Amino acid sequence: MPTKLLIIGGVAGGATAAARARRVDEHAEVILFERGEHISFANCGLPYYIGAVIENRDDLLVTTPDAFKERYRIDIRIFSEVIAIDRETREVEVVHLRTGERYREGYDKLILSPGAEPLRPPLKGIDSDRIFHLRNIPDSDRIKAYLDDRKSASAGLPNPAARICQSEPSERALTCKVVC
Ligand SMILES: Cc1cc2nc3c(=O)[nH]c(=O)nc-3n(C[C@H](O)[C@H](O)[C@H](O)COP(=O)(O)OP(=O)(O)OC[C@H]3O[C@@H](n4cnc5c(N)ncnc54)[C@H](O)[C@@H]3O)c2cc1C
Repeated sequence: MPTKLLIIGGVAGGATAAARARRVDEHAEVILFERGEHISFANCGLPYYIGAVIENRDDLLVTTPDAFKERYRIDIRIFSEVIAIDRETREVEVVHLRTGERYREGYDKLILSPGAEPLRPPLKGIDSDRIFHLRNIPDSDRIKAYLDDRKSASAGLPNPAARICQSEPSERALTCKVVC
């Protein structure tokens, strides 16, 4: 029986693990669950996309689920969130976020690569629609749409995100202040 490997998370860690698993074992059954729409995208390019240095949104996509599936023979399931792990029965419970379908999938081995969530500290005003976080492509779409509606804007940025300012092209005036 081929080994059945499940991977939770489809960006840098998950996609790398999936490709490596295929190289190590050509017979393994590998299923990758990603709750978002995209796998293996260029996180580091997001600020440059917002700043229009990267003009084409598709250039952020290192690969697509279909291309990855074809190249590595890996079952890629997007919009699929793993909501529980049953270590006794060696199964995960999955919900398809578009259809609501729920099912269980058994495994021999399980790799967790769920990344991290942006921290939203419990501060007054934190729910303002002018406070954004930047972690994935939908986040960058929201920021870009906000900026595209305006000729100029100012932004306060925690330090690592300061690259949004660095990548901002000259045609749009974006004043940035690093706040911590
Ligand atoms: C704007 C930005 C710029 C960056 N620039 C650089 C850089 O220049 N150089 C550098 O080295 N690093 C950079 N990084 C950091 C780098 O992108 C991250 O370290 C890397 O993406 C982490 O990969 P990951 O796979 O561990 O997690 P993530 O990229 O967070 O991916 C985890 C995935 O798991 C999915 N997931 C989570 N839970 C579940 C679940 N229960 N079921 C299904 N799916 C789930 C999430 O939807 C997510 O897509 C940058 C990050 C950002 C946000």
